[in-house]
Amino acid sequence: MDKIWLSSPHMGGGEQKYVQEAFDTNWVAPLGPNVNGFEKDLESYIGENSNVACLVSGTSAIHLALILSGVSYNDNVICQSMTFSASANPIKYQGANPIFIDSEKDTWNMCPIALEEAIKKEMSKGKKPKAIIVVHLYGMPAKMDEISAISKRYEIPLIEDAAEALGSTYKGKKCGTFGDFGILSFNGNKIITTSGGGALVCKNDEDKQKTIFLATQARDNAPHYQHSHIGYNYRMSNITAGIGRGQMEVLDKHISYRRVNNQFYQELFKNIKGITVFKESTENYFSNHWLSAIIVDETITNFSREDLRLSLLDDNIESRPLWKPMHLQPVFKDYAYYGTNVSENLFKKGLCLPSGSNLTEEDKERIKTSINKLMKK
Ligand SMILES: *Cc1c(COP(=O)(O)O)cnc(C)c1O
Repeated sequence: MDKIWLSSPHMGGGEQKYVQEAFDTNWVAPLGPNVNGFEKDLESYIGENSNVACLVSGTSAIHLALILSGVSYNDNVICQSMTFSASANPIKYQGANPIFIDSEKDTWNMCPIALEEAIKKEMSKGKKPKAIIVVHLYGMPAKMDEISAISKRYEIPLIEDAAEALGSTYKGKKCGTFGDFGILSFNGNKIITTSGGGALVCKNDEDKQKTIFLATQARDNAPHYQHSHIGYNYRMSNITAGIGRGQMEVLDKHISYRRVNNQFYQELFKNIKGITVFKESTENYFSNHWLSAIIVDETITNFSREDLRLSLLDDNIESRPLWKPMHLQPVFKDYAYYGTNVSENLFKKGLCLPSGSNLTEEDKERIKTSINKLMKK
C-alpha cells in the first residue's frame, strides 16, 4: 500500500500555466512578472495594507527580519522554544543569542507571562532584548493581544513566524500582519508550496524595498557594482513564483480540506479516552489546521504516543512527534530559557497525524482502521 504522508505537495492545476509563461517570455531569473504577481496576490490575500517581498525561504525571511529589526552581534533575541529550528537559527546567523520562552496550554505558542518575565529579568541585567519571535504552530494563532501589547509596552520589535499559518486568523485578522514583520514559508510540506520559498510581510513599502535590496546583494545605485552594505542572494525566482501564483488560486480550498481533516480526527477520537485533538480554544482563533495533532495521555490509554506512531508506521502511515523545544536541543542547550515544562510535556505526549489537503477518503479509512487496531490490543 502507498505511504500516507503527513503533508505532501498538492498542486491545483493552474501552476504550470504561469511557469510556461515564464519560459515563453524568458523570465528565468530571480525577478519577473510572476514574482511581482505572487507578491500582489499575497498582499491582497492577507490584507491590512501589507507589503510582501518574496524570498528563497521562510528562513531567509526571518534572517532579513532580524537585520531590519537592528539585531547584530551579541544582541539577545527572544524566541518561542517550541518550534522548528528555522525560527531560531537566523538569530545565530547574526551572531546574536536566543532566549527561549515556554508555551502556554491553549495555543501551544509563546506564553505571554513567561515572555514578560524574561524581558523584565533581562532588562534588570542591563540588556534589553532586541526582538521577539513568536510562532503560530501548526496554524494555530498565538495569543496576539497579549504578545503585541508586551512588544509595544517594552518597545521591542515583534517578528511573527507565520510559516505554518497562512490563512489563519486571530480576531478576524490574518496571521503575519500583527508583528512589525511577518514571515511565510512555501516549502514542500507547507499549506501551499512553490517547491521551496518564503516571504517577508512588511508594514510599509520602505521596509519591503530594503528587504529586496538586501536580498539582491545590496547593490548601490551605480552603473558599476558598488556596495555599501553586506548583501544576500535571497530573492525568489520567477519560476517558483509561478507555482505560487497557481497555488494561491486553491489556497482557501486547501485550508477548508485541512479543516475537514481536523473534524475527521475530532470525530475519530471523540469516544477514545486519553486522546485529545488540538483545536481552537475560543472563537477568536481560526486555524488553517496545517497539521492536525493529538495529545496521548499514556496513563489513560495504556499506550504511548510512540506506540501509536510505530503502529501507524506498520501500516505505512506517517506521523511525527510535535516539535522538540529548542531549549532541549543539543545545539541550543546553553542559552537562557524562561518557563516551566509545558512545551516539554507537549513534546512528550504529542503526535502530528496525516493532514494533507490531498488526503483521500480511502486514506482516512486506512488511518481509522489502523488506529482502531491498536485500540483493540
Ligand atoms: C517551515 C518553517 C520555517 C522555515 O521555512 P523554510 O521556507 O523551510 O525556510 C520557519 N518556521 C517554522 C515554524 C516553519 O514551520
